[in-house]
Amino acid sequence: MADTIFGKIIAGEIPCHRVYEDDRVLAFLDINPLTRGHTLVVPKEPAATLDQLSDESAAALGRVLPRICRAVMAATGVREYNVLENNGPGAHQAVFHVHFHIIPRPGPNEGLGLRWAARSLDQGEAVELVKLITTALQKAP
Ligand code: 5GP
Repeated sequence: MADTIFGKIIAGEIPCHRVYEDDRVLAFLDINPLTRGHTLVVPKEPAATLDQLSDESAAALGRVLPRICRAVMAATGVREYNVLENNGPGAHQAVFHVHFHIIPRPGPNEGLGLRWAARSLDQGEAVELVKLITTALQKAP
């Protein structure tokens, strides 16, 4: 459990500014917020990345995430926000325990910076991808 900084926070070994807790989920303020109210929502299960998380913890997170978003927006008075969940160092993950960021976006130059280099979906590639992903889902639902 306590092999990451978030494991230690969950175990109560180091402090946090807690905003929510239940049997499976803990939410607390980010120590280096991008904006006021930046909150982390963390399963107690020590999965490093989202794909490794159990259905039970995923369901518990999904159940409370919108509620915590509403509370953060009510508290900050901000109506727009990003929810971010990074997986792997190449995807900007620094703490290897699943966590969702709730990042209020009070203005255009505040909050999460995004580079969204979109391209058109190739039809042949789409057909192939649907086959690959649906096959993978059948093998490991
Ligand atoms: P990641 O890049 O892994 O998605 O984000 C990790 C987040 O955890 C960062 O936003 C960072 O500020 C936050 N963080 C790292 N260590 C601590 C800590 O000890 N306490 C709290 N509250 N947040 C932390």
